[in-house]
Amino acid sequence: MTADGSLARLEIDLAAIRENWRSLAARHPSGPVAGVVKADAYGLGATHVAPALFAAGCRHFFTAHLSEALAIRPRLPGALLAVLNGLPPGSEASFAHHDVTPVLGTPDEIARWAALARQLGRRLPALLHVDTGMHRLGLDAAQLAALAADPTALSGLDLRYVMTHLAASEVPEDPANAAQHRRFAAACALLPPLPRSFANSSGIFLGPDFASDLARPGAALYGINPTPGRPNPMRPVVRLSARVLALRTIAAGAAVGYNATWTAPRPGRIATIGVGYADGWLRSHSNHGHAVFDGAMLPLVGRVSMDLTTLDATDCPALREGDWVELIGPARPVDEVAQAAGTNGYEILTSLGRRYRRAWLA
Ligand SMILES: *Cc1c(COP(=O)(O)O)cnc(C)c1O
Repeated sequence: MTADGSLARLEIDLAAIRENWRSLAARHPSGPVAGVVKADAYGLGATHVAPALFAAGCRHFFTAHLSEALAIRPRLPGALLAVLNGLPPGSEASFAHHDVTPVLGTPDEIARWAALARQLGRRLPALLHVDTGMHRLGLDAAQLAALAADPTALSGLDLRYVMTHLAASEVPEDPANAAQHRRFAAACALLPPLPRSFANSSGIFLGPDFASDLARPGAALYGINPTPGRPNPMRPVVRLSARVLALRTIAAGAAVGYNATWTAPRPGRIATIGVGYADGWLRSHSNHGHAVFDGAMLPLVGRVSMDLTTLDATDCPALREGDWVELIGPARPVDEVAQAAGTNGYEILTSLGRRYRRAWLA
């Protein structure tokens, strides 16, 4: 029943997230394991997820934006809360006032944060980001050498970690991993001795060479497989179900949906659900993938439209109007959904829409 008229529901299993965090911590004995909760905890609700991780013992958190950090700062007393995307000009006082730690990745960011530390007359916490091959954020080799040659540049900064980010950790055989490992060691050798932060989710599974003083997993916490091609060691976290709004019989040759991209090869039944691309149920699912009802597969047929999706229910005679079908869940893992839509689990989760009735299971 849906007293509130909701057409689809999204259940987020906070106990599974906590258990995933604990199992990652067990695999990373060299140092603590953070919780990456950027993009609203990968779409799952950072104001629910971050406190759940905190309750499990997590004391290091990462967002991408200052605004995301401010939304959870009061719920994480004493925890390190760091912003991966750096220190925008003009935001320095806000970072300092709210005890949010910037990840510094340019000489200008370092200079502005050090200037504020001098002005305030106290040391300010920071992480230092070094680029070891992703060429996206972080100091490059020349910038790092210049920094190493000028010891005053870092004065006033309480550097908590030096970090880098792996570009291909989900592909263990990719030589880029070893190259980044080598460059990270070389970069750290230029700096004063500092704790290091290295692995993301998949990096934790690359073995002890990639262990450090702080791991930074996101995806694996949320049930995305950090070891693609091998069994998923994480527990599923998300269940997305939609109610069958209408069930109709169609004749062989009948076309379904916009522009008739699917035509029934035989007489059959079409189930329509109230989930579409406006809900982040990507249009690239059109004619790809399936929903699950009671163990039976319902292939997705026709175009995904803004608010509706159509399923071929011909081989599922038990299905009735009002039944709930599973789009993502234990029977339909997020990684499989992603593959059907030609993307990854990260994009599926961060796209999850705002019209679902959301429930967080403690
Ligand atoms: C997003 C991100 C992470 C987390 O990556 P996952 O693959 O989701 O575990 C870690 N570090 C940095 C710098 C990131 O941008």
